[in-house]
Amino acid sequence: MRFVSPALKHLVFPALSKSGYLRHAAGDGPAVVTYHGVFPSGYEIRNSALDGNLMHAEALRRQLELLKRRYHVITPDEFLRWSELQWSEEKSGDGKSSQEKRAAVKQSLPPRSILLTCDDALRNTLTEMVPILHDFGLSCLFFATGASAEPTPSMLWYEELYLMVLDAAGPIALNLPEAGISINNVSPRPKQRHAFWWSLVENFSQFSAPSRREFLNRIQQQLGLSENWRSKFVEDTRLAARFLTLDKSGLQQLAAAGMGVGAHSLSHPIFARASDDLAWQEISGSKTVLEKALGQPVWAFGYPFGNTATVTRRDLNFAERAGFRCAFMNTGGGFGATNYRFAIPRVHVTAHMSLSEFEANISGFYRSLRLRFSKRKNEEEQLRPTS
Ligand SMILES: [Zn+2]
Repeated sequence: MRFVSPALKHLVFPALSKSGYLRHAAGDGPAVVTYHGVFPSGYEIRNSALDGNLMHAEALRRQLELLKRRYHVITPDEFLRWSELQWSEEKSGDGKSSQEKRAAVKQSLPPRSILLTCDDALRNTLTEMVPILHDFGLSCLFFATGASAEPTPSMLWYEELYLMVLDAAGPIALNLPEAGISINNVSPRPKQRHAFWWSLVENFSQFSAPSRREFLNRIQQQLGLSENWRSKFVEDTRLAARFLTLDKSGLQQLAAAGMGVGAHSLSHPIFARASDDLAWQEISGSKTVLEKALGQPVWAFGYPFGNTATVTRRDLNFAERAGFRCAFMNTGGGFGATNYRFAIPRVHVTAHMSLSEFEANISGFYRSLRLRFSKRKNEEEQLRPTS
């Protein structure tokens, strides 16, 4: 999560939002936003790193109300039609045809168009988020993993691992020779545990999903967690809605509720750590299993983790080769952000984002500030296609 200065958050963004500057400054669109689900009512936030991507229902309602009032939320199908025009081949090299194309692309959507997306397809997307979207008459593109094509729900492996690391009593010792792990004293302090967890996520992303499952089972034993440690996440309705992925029938209900469904890999590894074979299976395999589960084409791909540290140009090529029509990152975004067909930027919405901060992000204002004053290069440029 990026640090936003208190002056921007509490003074500048609210003033610019109120004055209408942000919506009038909006450049070419559409802009895409990413959610990760909505807290089930009564769920107690356990850890901000674990839960920071989800939204409170009321905060989501306030954002959708703002979007309805000041912007134009489009459907996933409208986005697809726009993308087909945007990236269509020009008829010839003369200036006129490219001008005509630009005009056709511009006219294909209303000004200030926004696409809503949501990653991971957790159970709460169906129980908490879809009813809110229905109240506002809006549709959203949900990126589901291959787990949601299965008959029984499961947890995202990296979240399950995080919960295990949080639940371990005292200093952590682990021994997994196949993964080169032999550690006997990870401090119980939250920062150290978080860093240790992420090092495991990076390490295990080289392995196939069944090997990762095997590692998690052994970690559960080695950390001294009880045999039925997982059962609370299935039996407690609130925990199940927060942590379980939709199963096949849930996924079908999501589509039947008028929502779009895209693919989010088979098992959510960090692609930058995966071999070519594994990354290809994860990308192309997710299209196959989700299309089979839904009985309809799946045209969009959302990269797991989705930033420039976890996605490589190879993965963009794989998404294209697998037959997706476009693919989405999870960084950058806002009106006027660079758009490559297989690395479309998105504004990542977090639980801590204020309403005016949300608008400063979608308008592209915050992004342009960052590019102007930060020494960091435009990260999206790293994924510029070579041809
Ligand atoms: Zn994800």
